[in-house]
Amino acid sequence: MNFFRTNISEMTGYVPGEQPQTEKLIKLNTNENPYVCSPKVKAAIGRVVQAGLQKYPDPTATAFRMRAAELFGCDPDWILCGNGSDDILTIVTRALVDSGDHVRFSQPSYTLYRTLAEIQGAKCHVIDYESDWTLGPDFTKPCDQLRLAYLANPNSPSGTLVPPEEVARIADALPCPLLVDEAYADFAETNCLELVAQNEKIMVSRTLSKSYALAGLRFGFLVAQPQMIRELNKVRDSYNCDAMSIAGATAAIDDQNWLAQNRSAILATRTRLLDQLRQLGFECQDSEANFVWCTHPDHAAEQLYQQLKTDGILVRYMNYPGWGDGLRITVGTDEQIDALLAVLGC
Ligand SMILES: *Cc1c(COP(=O)(O)O)cnc(C)c1O
Repeated sequence: MNFFRTNISEMTGYVPGEQPQTEKLIKLNTNENPYVCSPKVKAAIGRVVQAGLQKYPDPTATAFRMRAAELFGCDPDWILCGNGSDDILTIVTRALVDSGDHVRFSQPSYTLYRTLAEIQGAKCHVIDYESDWTLGPDFTKPCDQLRLAYLANPNSPSGTLVPPEEVARIADALPCPLLVDEAYADFAETNCLELVAQNEKIMVSRTLSKSYALAGLRFGFLVAQPQMIRELNKVRDSYNCDAMSIAGATAAIDDQNWLAQNRSAILATRTRLLDQLRQLGFECQDSEANFVWCTHPDHAAEQLYQQLKTDGILVRYMNYPGWGDGLRITVGTDEQIDALLAVLGC
């Protein structure tokens, strides 16, 4: 018997990067931060555990929203919190996209957008990036059934950025809201936060998973105009963020010194990794994120991936049918990157 909705039976489901349960591998495949988070996070979570967990958490994570609002110069009612930014993407999709509606995203990019659309039974417009990773005119093509467009910015796997002026132009031209997924914005030179006040169709999602080294905590958030947040709140699970993650996330964004120091360490290693890969003959994209995208003219990406894995180093092999393949390498510690370069160099 098949008990499931047709679109659920027919879809593949999202496939996350490998999470091997061993400490031995050097893990450069899912863009985690290689450094330990701010010590203030551990202290804040410890206090919550100490006080006991018998009560439900604050349903709207007020403490976090107040601190984040201060940081971004907006009011707390411009912020919606989620169990990771994947939860935010889910909430937005569920609230805006009905069965038979259309959504739009670029390719190669974050593959979860397709999964979320397929769960809703929506039709996907997949717009290929141009060869220089800019967005062509098809991204803003008019369409009556279009309900939502997603834009990972900086993009994964390329690490490239569509400049905010261009994002503003795209949002104006689109007939529907534009969700700018800024999972990597803390590693970039610019971002789209300021555009949110100028256009209610622009929503910006962020996560603490990458730049705050808290992928295990599960906390992300959305910045959008209050009338948008109000509607999205109806779709959110009542207690989507637990007491420990709210306390930990609030402590994390309170420690901007930690963020600044971590960022400069990652960016320095990123520069070195790009230089050395290019010296080894790789073709690499300049990156605004904590990973780099590369291909080699003489070596198949899949083979390089296998060779690295055999030597205990896990990177992400990406293959986009009709577009091509390559390696996405997370910027790890200097020691991890040296180990990677040693394997690639011989
Ligand atoms: C990692 C990532 C996310 C998800 O982050 P979580 O907050 O851990 O759910 C969202 N979008 C992109 C493009 C990512 O790479």
